[in-house]
Amino acid sequence: MRVLITGAAGFLGSHLSDRFIKEGHTVIGMDNFITGSMDNIAHLMGHERFSFINQDVSNFIYVAGELDAILHFASPASPNDYLEHPIPTMKVGSLGTHNTLGLAKAKGARYLFASTSETYGDPLVNPQPETYWGNVNPNGPRSCYDEAKRFSEALVLAYHRYHGLETRIVRIFNTYGPRMRLNDGRVVPNFIGQALTNKPLTVYGDGSQTRSFQFYTDLVEGIYRLLFSAETMPVNIGNPGEMSILEFARAVIEHADSKSDIVFTNPTDGRFTDDPKVRRPDISKAKRVLDWEPKVGLADGLFETIAYFRDKV
Ligand code: UDP
Repeated sequence: MRVLITGAAGFLGSHLSDRFIKEGHTVIGMDNFITGSMDNIAHLMGHERFSFINQDVSNFIYVAGELDAILHFASPASPNDYLEHPIPTMKVGSLGTHNTLGLAKAKGARYLFASTSETYGDPLVNPQPETYWGNVNPNGPRSCYDEAKRFSEALVLAYHRYHGLETRIVRIFNTYGPRMRLNDGRVVPNFIGQALTNKPLTVYGDGSQTRSFQFYTDLVEGIYRLLFSAETMPVNIGNPGEMSILEFARAVIEHADSKSDIVFTNPTDGRFTDDPKVRRPDISKAKRVLDWEPKVGLADGLFETIAYFRDKV
């Protein structure tokens, strides 16, 4: 297949590019480096089946030749990044989705959209099944991300229903691993960076809020299966191993063999506003329609991620 991956220089886009190259496909990566990094794809540059276009997908995009699939992964994805870039975040999750859908329609390509557990907002149901409509503040600081992703889901399904486009939607839950940016502000790079430099780990609030962390290899496998499946409606891909952020802080300290303490802080710049109190994927649908479940436990995932960050701090 000839595949376009937007956000190819990002954490997930670059790992997906690797997977498609490994499977023998041809990949065209697209990124404007707003949060992505050339370091993530440098090893692919010069590969005979990889090419790269430096372009903002929120503007009209042109790709020559046939395309069999488009995976739209371009977007700032950490609360820090979308607070810093709220308008590009909204544009890539609306105009960018529209442009890539239009391209998919023109090329007759299958389309996969990177959605998010943020579509559930601060959920009143735990774990979250795909049928849950969510509890999203439409005008809070996180809304630029949450509402763009929700709008995109609606647009993707409108293209499916009206134009008959083959579409897929993956709802991605917290994912971590090598190639995250050390300073992206998310809890995994923050805690690992702090632990490796023996600085206090900054737990927001009282740390009782929960997340469920998935290693990137499990996500990539789930996305690959979803693309080749027949499932049009959204599918959660995440690890149901739920823990509090305080428990997670302790786990990072232990696995990094760190002397760090834990401090409790309350960021007032919007990062912590509407912070979901619980989050855990219901993955029954992924098990049923993709025969997928996560394989990598927290200890192994943290081991690899801490090793990656060790020479970055
Ligand atoms: N968090 C924290 N300390 C940090 C960064 C994040 O306690 O230094 C918390 C944050 O409030 C949230 C959880 O960790 O409850 C996950 O945050 P992240 O930014 O990774 O992503 P989110 O799941 O909120 O999109």
